[in-house]
Amino acid sequence: MDGALVRLEGLRKVYNEGLPNAEEVLHGIDLTLAPGEFTALIGPSGSGKSTLLNILGLLEGASGGRYALAGRDVTVFDDDERTRARHEILGFIFQFHHLLPAFSAAENVMLPGLISRGRDNGGGDLRAKALELLDAVGLKEAADKKPGELSGGMQQRVAIARALVRSPRLVLADEPTGNLDTRSSDSIFALLRSFNRERGTGFLIVTHDPGLAARCDRIIELVDGRIADDRPNQAV
Ligand code: ADP
Repeated sequence: MDGALVRLEGLRKVYNEGLPNAEEVLHGIDLTLAPGEFTALIGPSGSGKSTLLNILGLLEGASGGRYALAGRDVTVFDDDERTRARHEILGFIFQFHHLLPAFSAAENVMLPGLISRGRDNGGGDLRAKALELLDAVGLKEAADKKPGELSGGMQQRVAIARALVRSPRLVLADEPTGNLDTRSSDSIFALLRSFNRERGTGFLIVTHDPGLAARCDRIIELVDGRIADDRPNQAV
């Protein structure tokens, strides 16, 4: 093992493989992410960003190439191993947060922990952890409120707390601020940054917003399923 959290070599993805409408959308991606990196993934619509994020998140398989996560070759994993690796290593934030409307903010944050509790060495106090995270995202007072009682920006904060409840090593975020106004978007971004700095959590953030990408340590640009640019961001 070489210390990389993510290592992709020649990763390919073909949709509708073997059919007349087969389409290769990732053409041999080489990419290494070190622990704790805070990286933006940019590129035009249709360039393959979501597909890459889904493969990294073990939500979809690749069609070829190699993917090692925390030093383990995940291409040979069965469903259970994939699920376990996802729970142990990864967190997810989406543009639409998918909170469960019938549950309070605290319960929504606790959910991923409840699902994986059997593997947690006894679990610890999940509610205490959820409350600590809600406090960290500035929502201590909203713990018992339902999503419908919260603004869009507050709901996204709950989703961030939920993504962090299992202390992931890498959070995959697909347009996490895409449906928010500039002010909420700025503060959500600052929050991700603070988790990165204070807890060492790695982030890979898909964004269309050049202003947000400019605040990441590294910017990777995908064009037509290939890495067109990958550079440290000197401005940060
Ligand atoms: P981005 O996130 O950069 O907008 P996507 O990863 O969503 O790009 O899409 C890349 C390409 O893959 C597009 O041409 C899209 O039409 C195609 N694609 C994405 N998902 C599927 C799918 N489930 N089946 C077939 N084609 C898909």
